[in-house]
Amino acid sequence: MITLYKADYAYIAGQFEQDRTIAVQDDLIIAIGPFAVLRANYPDAPLIDWSGYAIMPGAINAHNHSFQSLLRGIATDEPFLVWRDQALYKYTPALDAKTLYAGALLAFGEMLQYGVTTVTDFFYVHGNGTENDEAIMQAADDLGIRFVMARTMYDWSGAPLSYRETVSDAVLRTRTLAKKYDAHPRISVHPAPHSPHAASPEMIKAGHRLAQELDTPFHIHVAEEMFEVNDILRDYGVRPIHYLDQLGVVDDSMIAIHLVWLEQDEIDLLGARRASLAYCPSSNMFLADGVTKIPELLQAGVRIGLGTDGACSNNRTSVFEEMRMTALLQKVHRLDATAIRASDTLLMGTQAGADMLRLRTGQLTPTYLADFIAIDTTDLSLQPFAKELLPAHVVYSMQPTAIKRVVVAGKEVMRDGTLLTVHQERIRTLVAEAQEHFARI
Ligand SMILES: [Zn+2]
Repeated sequence: MITLYKADYAYIAGQFEQDRTIAVQDDLIIAIGPFAVLRANYPDAPLIDWSGYAIMPGAINAHNHSFQSLLRGIATDEPFLVWRDQALYKYTPALDAKTLYAGALLAFGEMLQYGVTTVTDFFYVHGNGTENDEAIMQAADDLGIRFVMARTMYDWSGAPLSYRETVSDAVLRTRTLAKKYDAHPRISVHPAPHSPHAASPEMIKAGHRLAQELDTPFHIHVAEEMFEVNDILRDYGVRPIHYLDQLGVVDDSMIAIHLVWLEQDEIDLLGARRASLAYCPSSNMFLADGVTKIPELLQAGVRIGLGTDGACSNNRTSVFEEMRMTALLQKVHRLDATAIRASDTLLMGTQAGADMLRLRTGQLTPTYLADFIAIDTTDLSLQPFAKELLPAHVVYSMQPTAIKRVVVAGKEVMRDGTLLTVHQERIRTLVAEAQEHFARI
């Protein structure tokens, strides 16, 4: 069936264009143009009238840890290792399929309210199996959000037992999940060796090999904190990107997260290999990690998407917030207001994030997936209004009150702040139950 979405404006190829209607067939955009043209071409198609609204691609969250939404507010204002031990490690024993499902509903449900249409969960609380992984995927499926399971491969002996797997178990389980969800229209599975400090060289190489086999990207945290760089230097005598290059995994399938502590030759290498970065500026500020060299990485040719990271190191879950933070942090760090522009960060939070995840979403283009949002051009956070001002407004001033509709795969999943798939009160109840469970730890 074909449906027409009629709006005052639509964000196409970097600008808002007036009088744009989108024709959607099943889960795909099939045409975009003036209303009169599309009405003539599709005379019988039902009309969804979004007059007063602007349509834009939904935001792409390239990095999150959904279970950390349950730990929001715990161990705030602490150094990284204290935060890790007091928030993550302490409560990990309380994480089972039921609580993880609650955490994922909370994380992804809140994101939908903020206009995120695709989320990547870098998930590592496997509990020596795949039941927990499938609880997360179920939550995404129930909400109707597009989902990438970056299934973590983790074998550092210092971490909680439920994160750890042997290389062969990690490969087998990740491959099994990928095959099982292969035909799912909204879910994909990518290998994600955790990091150079929490995955052995064998694990990292196995994750990369599996990504080649599955024809997907692979995800890996790199150089978030200075101590991680020093550990790799101590153990291997080289900096992290050179270490990963020695393992043969630095290529266009690599989605590195953070990349805070890099030297220029590492940046050049990443650019030459067409690697990608999932940048999480709020989390980097929250944990006092440092400032990633975004202009240099862009200049070198690294593709950059945005992530919220987990909600206990942010503590918000909006990619539009990350667009704003990307721009502000880079500007103040360099004392240069021209260091990065609103249009650059808008691209990172939509099209570039989708491209690096190899998903045909993140832009309003025929043949792409019908994942988009409607923003209310009369919202006070978007005034004074002019279509030329709208890209800057979206990045710098828009509040979630402006986000009125969210459509994923041609299906409306959020309207006027209300989730249409899973009742908000049910999420709140499940989270409260998980909280009681945590209180016993
Ligand atoms: Zn992370």
